[in-house]
Amino acid sequence: MRRFISEMTDKVLAGGELSVDEGARLIEGTTRDTLMDLLAGADRIRRQYVGNEVHLCSIVNAKSGRCSEDCGFCAQSSRFETGVDEYELLDAEQVKKAAKEAKQNGAEALGLVAAWRGLKQGPELDKVCNLIEEVAAEGDVHPDASLGLISDPEVARRLKQAGLHTYNHNLETARSHFETVVDTHSFDDRLSTLRHVRDAGMNLCSGGILGMGETARQRVELAAELRELDPDLVPLNFLNPIDGTPMATEHGKLSPLEALVGIAVFRFMLPKHHIMVAGGREVVLGDLAPLMYLAGASATMVGNYLTTGGATPEDDLAVIAGFELEPRVATAAATGKPLPLTPRPASQPVGPAAGHAANAAVASAAAAKAADDGASNASQAASDSAGAADSDAPALAGEV
Ligand code: SF4
Repeated sequence: MRRFISEMTDKVLAGGELSVDEGARLIEGTTRDTLMDLLAGADRIRRQYVGNEVHLCSIVNAKSGRCSEDCGFCAQSSRFETGVDEYELLDAEQVKKAAKEAKQNGAEALGLVAAWRGLKQGPELDKVCNLIEEVAAEGDVHPDASLGLISDPEVARRLKQAGLHTYNHNLETARSHFETVVDTHSFDDRLSTLRHVRDAGMNLCSGGILGMGETARQRVELAAELRELDPDLVPLNFLNPIDGTPMATEHGKLSPLEALVGIAVFRFMLPKHHIMVAGGREVVLGDLAPLMYLAGASATMVGNYLTTGGATPEDDLAVIAGFELEPRVATAAATGKPLPLTPRPASQPVGPAAGHAANAAVASAAAAKAADDGASNASQAASDSAGAADSDAPALAGEV
């Protein structure tokens, strides 16, 4: 296995692309004895293609609970008794307050997340566009969002016109596994949403959740589908089995080793993308969470997720500094301008495979305070930012 890991590492470093068979063999063949070989390969690949930059994101749950959809991992579906908070769309003052807090925490952007099937033209879209405009006008952070399915291209154009920077919509899982996770909409509904988002000229944030009963091969199929989709940011989440959801009884948590192998193989499959480890990282990786950076992660979410809590921004920034990585926001704070994700022509097509939307688009990071102070290093930003929250792992992964 060591030889195979080495061969696959060299192949990617030389510009080659792993097949699904090769990725599946990495997952199935890596054991405790060869874990460090896999992580070392993933770390080399990350450093060659992404460098030491770490992208940091944060979100606000702008509308919680009572979602019509039946995503089996999600605490916010109206079909499951989970005890999650339920409320309608926040008003402009609440969102502006959240934006200010995000900035105080060093965030570059505020991602608005809404638990509903999706957006159509009408009063709800008007309200959302108003919130986006308010956040943009305040200038504290730039607005991102995860607002569910979009079947009307005009909706995407309206969001773009309002100032939306990045739209999150996750594939969630491989096409071949999707129907075991969601009944109320299809993988192609999600793919269609992503096409509209890209056609409107917004950045795409799309990834999935590991640990929902998929096979090793299906994990790699998801990575291959994302590779074809070519989003600007790939959130990778782990199932956090929440009481009341079907998956809490159907599946246990991944082991930390399984999760680290999953991150690493995503890095092998998606060498040039920012891979953001987000929902479920604390509950699945536990004390081993910092190793996600050695496994190839180059982004994470700071502060709260949606319905469960996360590590504090101080914790995250201390870990990043400890690995001698650099929060991308530090650069943004130094320049005073939000950093764009991968620039992309407005009309670039989305690949044929894709899926469901979800997550909080979101992008923010952490270090505005460092900029205010004339400092820009992660430790300074960490010590200055307040933080924390309460969020939900899979929620993040699949909201909306
Ligand atoms: S993941 Fe999104 S669409 Fe699915 S139930 Fe949760 S909030 Fe609704």
